[in-house]
Amino acid sequence: MSTPLLPALHRSEGDSPDAVTVAGRSCSREQLLGAAGAVARRIAGAPAVAVRADASLETVASVVGGLLAGVPVVPLAPDAGPVERGHVLRDSGAGLLLTAEPRAVECAEIETVRVDAAERADWTGTEPDPDTTAMILYTSGTTGSPKGALLPRRALAADLDGLAEVWQWTAEDTLVHGLPLFHVHGLVLGVLGALRTGSRLVHTGRPTPQAYAEAAGSLYFGVPTVWSRVARDPDAARRLSGARLLVSGSAPLPGPVFRDLAALTGQQPVERYGMTETLITVAARADGPRRPGYVGTPIPGIETRIAGEDGSGIGELQLTGTTLFTGYLGRPEATAESFTADGWFRTGDIAAIEDDGSHRIVGRSSTDMIKSGGYRIGAGEVENALLDHPAVAEAAVVGVEHPDLGQEIVAYVVADGVGERELIDFVAGHLSVHKRPRKVRFLDALPRNAMGKPQKRLLPGL
Ligand code: ATP
Ligand code: MG
Repeated sequence: MSTPLLPALHRSEGDSPDAVTVAGRSCSREQLLGAAGAVARRIAGAPAVAVRADASLETVASVVGGLLAGVPVVPLAPDAGPVERGHVLRDSGAGLLLTAEPRAVECAEIETVRVDAAERADWTGTEPDPDTTAMILYTSGTTGSPKGALLPRRALAADLDGLAEVWQWTAEDTLVHGLPLFHVHGLVLGVLGALRTGSRLVHTGRPTPQAYAEAAGSLYFGVPTVWSRVARDPDAARRLSGARLLVSGSAPLPGPVFRDLAALTGQQPVERYGMTETLITVAARADGPRRPGYVGTPIPGIETRIAGEDGSGIGELQLTGTTLFTGYLGRPEATAESFTADGWFRTGDIAAIEDDGSHRIVGRSSTDMIKSGGYRIGAGEVENALLDHPAVAEAAVVGVEHPDLGQEIVAYVVADGVGERELIDFVAGHLSVHKRPRKVRFLDALPRNAMGKPQKRLLPGL
């Protein structure tokens, strides 16, 4: 028989009435197992189930129920509009939608099932095979419409064990975060990680600096926009100084935020890199070096390489190993294109690997590599230079088609009290002249998705 995916959930030692807290409501692991058992009984045999993944105990019980029953779980953003929801429900083939609030979902296209975290039932089914699909997770849709990545149980197990090792993550920890529960970061790492290692989980509902400061955890997860807010709230930041690890991922952590956070909390954040398709594959170790702009080394079970490198050491990051998805649902061509002839996964991200093995993510090949006047320029380098200007709060840099240069560098910034000329000169003073933007556009806010990732394709005028 296979070993359980969430062994800690079945253990009574170390259980407590608030082993799992989500948005202010708590339960023990035994209660969660009972609620998940009730879900598993109702959905057993379904081809896949969608879960309206709001920040609630019911979402956690629904996901765990799917995992117990071996029914692939399809998390859905709670605020997904009809188009996105229709896309995910049709694409995934989910026959049921689990939610604590059926009335919040007006949905003619699927049968809704009401979930209540107070319900209890035993689940006596056997542990599904490790090769079966645990989840169909949709990518963030940064570069196109979201694709459903098929994630087998063994990939989840391998990823969580690898991260537990590099972060020395154990049942002694209290994990705190307030990330959305429909992406790999908040759900796989942030919920299943706690249930596999046996650490206490405090989901703060929303990822505010105040909520993080009050939660008294040892391990904190956040995306760069969360850490940037914490760094601007010195009182909250100082209250995190007793934490063991502050982890950032899902998008690049700007250097100034890294430095401010380190100064205020007394410890440098740990960065990690990953994707829906591969889970989290590269991470700074708890006992290893931490440097702004570096995401660490491959976790156990993962190998990486740089392909198409042109002498500068920079090229496409490719990887292979135990945490990979098995393909995009219903898209054999996209699946085939995402692997090389020798079976390595093409991340589509541009990176460099230093002599000591640390990985630096330069950006995405599709939107972050600018070719201008014969030079290759990483948008991230220009964004970081802009962020070093005290008046600049946010920056996104893109290449826009240009008749002579191929592409010209255009910067979008959120800034106060600074003009275009001054910013162009500021960047020219920090980087080579060919890296300075030719135009600067001022915005009230950058377009971002629920994970706080900048959505460059939604910038005005592109
Ligand atoms: P889509 O694939 O639909 O366009 P997406 O790639 O944003 O959307 P995700 O799987 O959620 O969807 O995000 C993975 C991407 O996030 C990576 O390919 C990488 O570009 C970026 N990323 C993740 N972690 C980091 C990090 N620490 N530093 C820089 N970029 C990161
Ligand atoms: Mg992607």
